[in-house]
Amino acid sequence: MKKYEYIWLDGYKPEPMLRSKIKVEDSGNPPDWAFDGSSTQQAEGSKSDCLLLPVQEYESPLFSDSLVMCQVETGEHKTHPSNTRVAAAEVVTDEWWFGFEQEYFFTDQNGVILGWEDGVPRPQGDYYCGVGSSNVQGREISEAHLDACLEAGIELSGTNAEVALGQWEYQCFGRGIKAADDLWISRYLLHKIAEDFGASVNLHPKPQEGDWNGSGMHTNFSNNEMRSNGSEELFNSICEKLGSVHDKGIAAYGSDNDKRLTGLHETQKITEFSYAKFDRGASIRIPIFTLEHNWNGYLEDRRPASNADPYKILAHLVGTLIS
Ligand code: MG
Repeated sequence: MKKYEYIWLDGYKPEPMLRSKIKVEDSGNPPDWAFDGSSTQQAEGSKSDCLLLPVQEYESPLFSDSLVMCQVETGEHKTHPSNTRVAAAEVVTDEWWFGFEQEYFFTDQNGVILGWEDGVPRPQGDYYCGVGSSNVQGREISEAHLDACLEAGIELSGTNAEVALGQWEYQCFGRGIKAADDLWISRYLLHKIAEDFGASVNLHPKPQEGDWNGSGMHTNFSNNEMRSNGSEELFNSICEKLGSVHDKGIAAYGSDNDKRLTGLHETQKITEFSYAKFDRGASIRIPIFTLEHNWNGYLEDRRPASNADPYKILAHLVGTLIS
């Protein structure tokens, strides 16, 4: 018998939350399944069945044998309104590569950021990539999470303590639609592993007001042409195209992002669009890698918030650039 851990996105707004349940089966593949959508804001009580369709399977580093990422259909086998994956999968092909820089805070079970239990800590400065018990909080959770993702076959390319105490980042690389599936599963693993340590994960883009960095999800992206047939004109035209639909981008890039994109703390203002070489205060940054490879490489969209739905990011970026 195999333990399949089915994972899906619920119907909560503005951002969905992750849900899961376990199915014990003796078949070699996880079958379609169902759940009570009236308990996840995905159905009325009178017609509560929603369907789970497996879209990606991972070896489980947890108690189960397999993690099964699913998309949701209505009981009538129609794409559920909460299913943002379908629109992304329609436009994204495997030539598109993505590197998400997922930032977040660890909290205790009451929502207090780790290290902040006795009040506001020393100002920012010592914490970024810091070492030592007075400079870092939650490292054991971050390291257990890194191992779990690698075991599941998710390409985390690194992790580091971030600028605020209790804040962390990991970088998650993937190709095509699987990049977004991987990011959702990496978040799932983070939430579950934090449970083992009695901690929680806060994905809000600005959990702490004041002179503290917020959390973003810088999204690095490229396609074949950008990687191997690039030019200054190509990269500029991509930035211009994305700039012309800046408002649509912001709408797809997570709620409460206005609290983070203020023009301070290495961000551009939410109402402005800019792109530039090196500049961490730009909306889109042209990285040094791209310049040093004679305009072959990738771009970094610095606008997405830490709580953004990666399916919406992919649909916006690729949908804009192929139209
Ligand atoms: Mg960062």
